[in-house]
Amino acid sequence: MARKPRASNCKRYTAPHPDALEVKARIQAAYKMLRKDGYTTRSNFQCCQSCAWSELAHEDKNERVVFYHKQDAETLEKYGRTHLAWAGVGHAILFVLKDAGLDVEWDGGDDQRFCVSLPVHEKVLTPTFP
Ligand SMILES: [Zn+2]
Repeated sequence: MARKPRASNCKRYTAPHPDALEVKARIQAAYKMLRKDGYTTRSNFQCCQSCAWSELAHEDKNERVVFYHKQDAETLEKYGRTHLAWAGVGHAILFVLKDAGLDVEWDGGDDQRFCVSLPVHEKVLTPTFP
């Protein structure tokens, strides 16, 4: 007896970047320390920065916060690195991120997001990044 093909279940599987899981774990470790410091932390939060900031303002949590949104989460899966948006004391957040074992690119500007990844010597692959 012929079976009906289940075409709709045939999704192409893309393996996540090998660094993604570890970067995520280190972000969570940093979040834990930041929460002790009074920061609100969010992962995979809202679809983009505009929606995230407006939701945080609505919750009155936009003064001390570190987060990445859904598009950032997708970037993390794909490239093993991502951006973190933030408000608060930039250099204090930077210290915590590094303490959690993340490599951080940041030019010191209040409107610049942190770009976090694994330190070079721990990277599984060298990611290409848009
Ligand atoms: Zn949005």
